[in-house]
Formats: sequence, structure tokens, C-alpha cells
Amino acid sequence: AAASSSSSSPAVTTAEAGEVPATMKAWAYDEYGDGSVLKLSDAAPVPDIADDQVLVRVAAAALNPVDAKRRAGKFKATDSPLPTVPGYDVAGVVVKAGRQVKGLKEGDEVYGNISEKALEGPKQSGSLAEYTAVEEKLLALKPKSLGFAQAAGLPLAVETAHEGLERAGFSAGKSILILGGAGGVGSLAIQLAKHVYGASKVAATASTPKLELLKSLGADVAIDYTKENFEDLPDKYDVVFDAVGQGEKAVKVVKEGGSVVVLTGAVVPPGFRFVVTSDGSVLEKLNPYLESGKVKPLVDPKGPFAFSQVVEAFSYLETGRATGKVVISPI
Ligand code: NDP
Repeated sequence: AAASSSSSSPAVTTAEAGEVPATMKAWAYDEYGDGSVLKLSDAAPVPDIADDQVLVRVAAAALNPVDAKRRAGKFKATDSPLPTVPGYDVAGVVVKAGRQVKGLKEGDEVYGNISEKALEGPKQSGSLAEYTAVEEKLLALKPKSLGFAQAAGLPLAVETAHEGLERAGFSAGKSILILGGAGGVGSLAIQLAKHVYGASKVAATASTPKLELLKSLGADVAIDYTKENFEDLPDKYDVVFDAVGQGEKAVKVVKEGGSVVVLTGAVVPPGFRFVVTSDGSVLEKLNPYLESGKVKPLVDPKGPFAFSQVVEAFSYLETGRATGKVVISPI
């Protein structure tokens, strides 16, 4: 859970009654489908908060592929009921705190992934709205050196990169190949592996125009997947991190006894798959690296997209060509 720097008494709540309106602007859909199901409402209900939650006035949000897959109905068996306000990633300001909230207070600038489990009952009232309700434990204070738009692009992707590296047992001195190094998750996995974990060697794949970017993020080796098949190269790695869906090829380049983390697509032994768990303490752990600039958020240069451009932002994300994060700001 996030710790606040000031010393307000515990359980002190709320903004003045009346500061928070009953309704808000929000993007929502009431049926699954393509981008055309997304509608901008002027009068969506502002969510109530539970005792362990805060209400966040959203300043910026970001899209993840899971937002598009969820909207398409891919997870309907475990989704929350429609209508859905999409969005996992948020950065904004606390305007109200539940009775059990201890570490956050009104006015705190926070960021986080608002749904603890991405696929099992994700929040019905998401971050593509003026307000969203979030458990304190899923949030962290926003690094002061980052703007809201930059911070909004981090949570789900950096939590995924971190959890994947942890589950793979990654540690200093090990080598890693990251498939999809220029995407939201991959761009952070490169930086964490190199600058937080102390990898001996980081290799990553992308198309030709993105190779310099991979190097600037900390990759020692940038592999152009339009010119070379990584599985045909002689190098083997302690860990392969697959953010593309190339599980069958990924296992061919892992060392004996190594780990293959798969985020999407086929899983071939020894590869394994996991679904990210949101956790504010991971963001807190990484905050010093973000504060110092050792780890940098990468906001796709086509953005940030205006709040009115959410449909366009989804369709851009769904090209699968985004560089870093598709951010919506200001909200
Ligand atoms: P992005 O949309 O950010 O990824 C886009 C990037 O993928 C582009 O920069 C593109 O680079 C790159 N890319 C596409 N094809 C290839 C390829 N063949 N080889 C190398 N790079 C490629 O996605 P995310 O990083 O946010 O997510 C990646 C995947 O992981 C998604 O399927 C997502 O759903 C999944 N995911 C799963 C999670 C889990 O918990 N299991 C959590 C988070 C994400 P270029 O233009 O050069 O091709």
C-alpha cells in the first residue's frame, strides 16, 4: 500500500461533501464488440467507494491490449457485468478516502492499475472516466519527477514486466531475450532487466525503425525480426520473455534449466504463462528508479490522445504497432 509523506491521523476521510459530483464524463460500452461500441457519456454515475478504497479524480489513463480484448468479449466468462467503463491504468489525485484507508489522503497524487486481477472481475467502473474508485493497496504515490501522462502509462505494463522477471527467477548476472521490446511491457522489461536487476546481457526484438530505441532503453543486442529469426541465431539465454506470442520459438533459445515467460499465445514447456496481479507495493519499490530516471516511461509519440479521441486511441493500440504506451490525457 502507498505511504503518504504527511502525518494526517488515520481514518480521516473525505473532501467536503458536494465537491464530488454525482455524475461524470466517462467512456462506456453496454455490449461487446469492436471500437464502435465505445460511447462517451456525460452522465455516468461517479462510483461509490468502499472502506478500503479512495476516489481518484483521473488526470490521465492508458490503454493496454487487455482493454481491447475485454471489449471484444474475450473474457466475458469472468468479466464484471456490462455496462463497462474500460481502463486499468490511472494517474490522478485522491479526492476522497474510505474509512479504512491509512496511507493516502485527499490531495495525494497517485498512480496504479485499478483492477487487482486483470481478467477475473475487473472493475466495472474503470479509468477512462473523470473519477474512479481504487483500493489503496493498488496505488502508489506518483513519482514527483513524472507528469500524470507519463505515470499513467506505467502501472499494468511495469507490474507485468516485474512479475514476469520475478516468476522467472531473474537476477543479477543473468542474460535475457525480450520478444516485443518496443511495446508497453517490453520497453519496461528491458529497462528493469538491465537497470534494476543487473542483467549481464539484454537482447530484444523489434522491427527495423525501433532498433535504436531498444538500445537506448538498455538492450545490448537489438534483433530486427524483419531480417533475422532469433531462433536461428547461436545465442542462448537464461530467460526468454515473450510479449509477442512466439512461445514455440521462444523455448528454442533458452538455456538448459532456464525460464521462458509467456504473456500471450502458445505455451510450450518449459514456458509458463501468468496473468498480472496489480500491486501498489511494486510501484513503490520501483519509484526510486522512476524518480531518478534510471527507468523511464515510454509514451507513444502519437499520443497522448485527447479524452475525446479514445476510439482512435483504441484503434491505434489494436494495430499492434504502438511504441511504448498509448496514453489518454488530459481527462
Ligand atoms: P503493445 O501493444 O504495447 O505491443 C506493441 C509492440 O509489439 C510494438 O512496438 C511492436 O513492434 C511489437 N511487436 C509486434 N509484433 C512483434 C514481433 N513479431 N516481434 C517483435 N515485436 C513485435 O503490447 P503490450 O506490450 O502491452 O502487451 C504485449 C502482449 O502481452 C499483448 O498480447 C498483451 O495482451 C499481453 N499481456 C499479457 C499480460 C499478462 O498478464 N499475461 C499483461 C500485459 C500484457 P513493431 O512495430 O516493431 O512490430
